[in-house]
Amino acid sequence: MLIEGGRIDHGHHAGNAYNALHDAVEFANAVQVAMDNTDPKDTLIIVTADHSHTFTIAGYPTRGNPILGKVVGNDEHGEPMDHPQLAADGKPYTTVGYANGPGYADLGEETNSDARMNAPVGTGRVDLTEVDTRAPGFFQESLVHSSGETHGGEDVGIWARGPGAHLLSGTNEQNFIFHVMVHAGGLLEN
Ligand SMILES: [Zn+2]
Repeated sequence: MLIEGGRIDHGHHAGNAYNALHDAVEFANAVQVAMDNTDPKDTLIIVTADHSHTFTIAGYPTRGNPILGKVVGNDEHGEPMDHPQLAADGKPYTTVGYANGPGYADLGEETNSDARMNAPVGTGRVDLTEVDTRAPGFFQESLVHSSGETHGGEDVGIWARGPGAHLLSGTNEQNFIFHVMVHAGGLLEN
């Protein structure tokens, strides 16, 4: 059986980390349900992704800083500052962002995707000082302006439990996963 948490992908394509991360939590809950209802003696569970996105984590936020929040760093004593870190342009920035996507232009409260796609290029970074970056409809900033954020090219993780799980470690070509499943299930014998 194959189960896909496909809405994580949709959240990223929209340049909206709130949706992507919330569905990633639901994906983890779904994996837990599968683990609770199967026996590792007879069931191989493999958890992986078919690709990454241009999503990235940046800066040195203090421990416990909200993942969707603006970066708040530590002072020289290792204690959290009382204001967000500022970039070279004097504006705060968020921990998570995208290399491309709709969060490029400074459109204030405008969340209409057509308006974002047709926004004038070169308007500069959004000043996030008064913006709630943890709100559900916030578009994380992107370097390149595109109507939809795209897939990325990094290696993705793979985790497994059950028969044959020991075969999945280190770096593997994607086609290797097929052979692990065939081996574990005895699917092509005879
Ligand atoms: Zn996709």
